[in-house]
Amino acid sequence: MQVESALFFESIEQIYLRVFRALKPRTAPPEVRVEFRKYANANSRIRLEDGTLTVVISDVLRDAPAPIQEALASILISKLFRRQPDGNSLARYRRYLNRPEVRRHLHTVQQTRGRKLVLDPAGSTYDLCQLFEDLNFAYFYGLMARPRLGWSRRPSRTILGHYDPSHHTIVLSRLLDSPHAPERVVKYVLFHEMLHLRFPTEHRGARRCVHTREFKLAEKQFEGFEEVQRELKRFLSARTVAC
Ligand SMILES: [Zn+2]
Repeated sequence: MQVESALFFESIEQIYLRVFRALKPRTAPPEVRVEFRKYANANSRIRLEDGTLTVVISDVLRDAPAPIQEALASILISKLFRRQPDGNSLARYRRYLNRPEVRRHLHTVQQTRGRKLVLDPAGSTYDLCQLFEDLNFAYFYGLMARPRLGWSRRPSRTILGHYDPSHHTIVLSRLLDSPHAPERVVKYVLFHEMLHLRFPTEHRGARRCVHTREFKLAEKQFEGFEEVQRELKRFLSARTVAC
């Protein structure tokens, strides 16, 4: 076990005070309050007001060792004074967040604490569970395990559907939960997202959706593929006029 002995008996408040003094030697040292709070991520906040430095840190970092707390202190206090945090602290903190056990912890916390971002799969016009089972039967031999399904809170026109791996959820834009949206169009969008489950792409960034050659081939198996593309375009342009 490697312990930087100078840090060993230091409280987290003392760490912040020491880092503060080193960065702002001519400023009167503040009173320091550090609080751990249950966040759905590793975010931290800092504020200096009336001689009190208040730091709120995600409880995911509660057990982080002193050198990591010090690195975070240095980053947060630098940001407070609009300075560039030093590279060593940034690298050390990022390495910590990238440790497999820390990532796993964050992932679990995100799943259990994340705000419910999707609405019930049974919409006012379409039930995503029903559509999923139809598609599962027609194209996947009924073998695809059903992920969570839900309608988006906002009726997005730009993102009609996406698969969120951290919540194992397919989300369809609420724009499609409408009698104006042909069932085939809704099914096609859902089918597309199901193919993302069938052909997972890993480590390509959270938001990008990657369509490999096999993905595109599989997508063309959708009954009336060409036609449904046109229907989708018509639906979207009709919506534009209506708005
Ligand atoms: Zn896609």
